[in-house]
Amino acid sequence: MTAVMFGITTRLEIVQKRIRGAAARAGRDPASIALVAVSKTQPAAAIREAFEAGQRLFGENYAQELRDKAEELKDLGIAWHFIGHLQRNKAKVVAPVAACMESVDSLDLARELARRAPARLRCLIEVNIGGEGSKSGIAPEGVAELARGIRALENLDLAGLMIVPPYDADPEKSRPYFRKIRLLRDELARTHGPALPELSMGMSHDVEVAIEEGATIVRIGTAIFGERE
Ligand SMILES: *Cc1c(COP(=O)(O)O)cnc(C)c1O
Repeated sequence: MTAVMFGITTRLEIVQKRIRGAAARAGRDPASIALVAVSKTQPAAAIREAFEAGQRLFGENYAQELRDKAEELKDLGIAWHFIGHLQRNKAKVVAPVAACMESVDSLDLARELARRAPARLRCLIEVNIGGEGSKSGIAPEGVAELARGIRALENLDLAGLMIVPPYDADPEKSRPYFRKIRLLRDELARTHGPALPELSMGMSHDVEVAIEEGATIVRIGTAIFGERE
């Protein structure tokens, strides 16, 4: 198994190669795709190793864990993406340390983030594209209204949409969801402008398909750091 045989630096290279390969097949510039290394549950030492290998963007799912790691690794100048479900009362923990808040799913949360962010905070709307009750994210029907609400907030910079499709080991099963979110984004830009350039989608098992469908941010954990505890 690659996860056991190779170190983080090698696995990172393999992931970068997968990204470049998918971009080439899709006729896209690989520089238009940002890699977020998802480091949830991984120790600070693993993040340091990936940073030393050149990785700059890291993703965390839990507010306290983000705060602790940001403190422990503050000498590195990491750009942290928050990608988990966030309760409104934890906005004060995330807003001061995140470079991008990818999982805004309500106007209440957006308002609180805007109130707590020390500077303009880049954010994405998380869409519950599969309609799964267990998943966070706002239903597709609510996205236009939430986007309008966020745009009215001075301190937030709405850059695009994020999704986690229902898990299936077959990456092709993710494709219809990736396509749906891209079409939703295009539709929003057309009817509600301005453009929403970022599409955050694609994980360890389906990153190639996500890139083929237009991902500009991919979030990869296991393929870089190995299996989580
Ligand atoms: C954990 C997680 C990822 C990374 O998943 P892998 O399968 O380990 O690559 C990406 N996005 C979100 C929202 C996650 O919670």
